[in-house]
Amino acid sequence: MITTKRPEDFARMRRAGAVVARIHEVVREAAKPGVTLLALDAMAADVLADARCTSNFLNYRGFPGTTCLSVDREIVHGIPSKRRLKEGDILSLDAGAIYDGWHADAAITFGIGEIQPEAARLIEVTEKAMWAGIEATRPGARLGDIGYAISQVAAPHGYGVVREYTGHGIGLQMHEDPQILNYGTPRKGMKLKAGMAICIEPMFNLGTHETKVLDDDWTVVTADGAISAHFEHTIAITPDGTEVLTLP
Ligand code: MG
Repeated sequence: MITTKRPEDFARMRRAGAVVARIHEVVREAAKPGVTLLALDAMAADVLADARCTSNFLNYRGFPGTTCLSVDREIVHGIPSKRRLKEGDILSLDAGAIYDGWHADAAITFGIGEIQPEAARLIEVTEKAMWAGIEATRPGARLGDIGYAISQVAAPHGYGVVREYTGHGIGLQMHEDPQILNYGTPRKGMKLKAGMAICIEPMFNLGTHETKVLDDDWTVVTADGAISAHFEHTIAITPDGTEVLTLP
C-alpha cells in the first residue's frame, strides 16, 4: 500500500532523517583501522538514544544490530561484529531512525584510511548514481525514470547493478510500497505523486551484479567476491519537486 504523507508527517521524517545524518557523521569520524564494527554500532545506538529516537533496524525480522555495516565484498545487511576495520577497507553504513512513529533510512560508503583508486571510483560513481536517481524524482515522473537514471551512471564503468535489493517507499514503516528498482525503462512504471516518500539506494559492484547470502542469513555479498558500494537517501515528493529528508 502507498500512503500519502502530510507536511507534518514529512516534518517528523525530516527530524528522524537529521538523526540518521548525525549517525553517519559520528560513525564515519570513528571508523579507523582497529575499530570494531560492534563499537561503531554502539555509537549509532547512543546517537539514537540521545535524540530519543529508536532504531528501525534492530530486531527487524530478528536483525541483531542498530545499523548494517558491510565491508568490501559485503553489499548490504552486514551484521555488526567483533571484526576490526583495517586500512584499505571500504565500509557501507546503512542506518535508520524512528521519530514519533515516522521512519528515515540512509546509507553511505567510505574508505578506511587509504583505499585503492578503483574502490574510490566505485564509491564516487555509486554516490553520483544516487543523485541521478534523486534528480529523476519528481511528481509525474515514473519509477522507470529513476531506475534508468541510476543504471545509466553505472553503464560506462561496467559495474554490476544489484537487482535483488532495491529502494522502497517509507513512512510509518521502513519498507513500504513501491519497490524502487535500480534499473528500468524511461516513462514506464508507476507514476510518482506529491505526498510519497521513497528511499533511493543504488548498490554497485566492481564485478558481476550477482549476489549471495552468507550462512548468517543476513549478510549479502557479491557472488564473485569483488567489492561493492551503496548509497541511500530518504526523499519526500512535494508539489514542487523533492526534498532530501536525511540531511544534517
Ligand atoms: Mg533502505
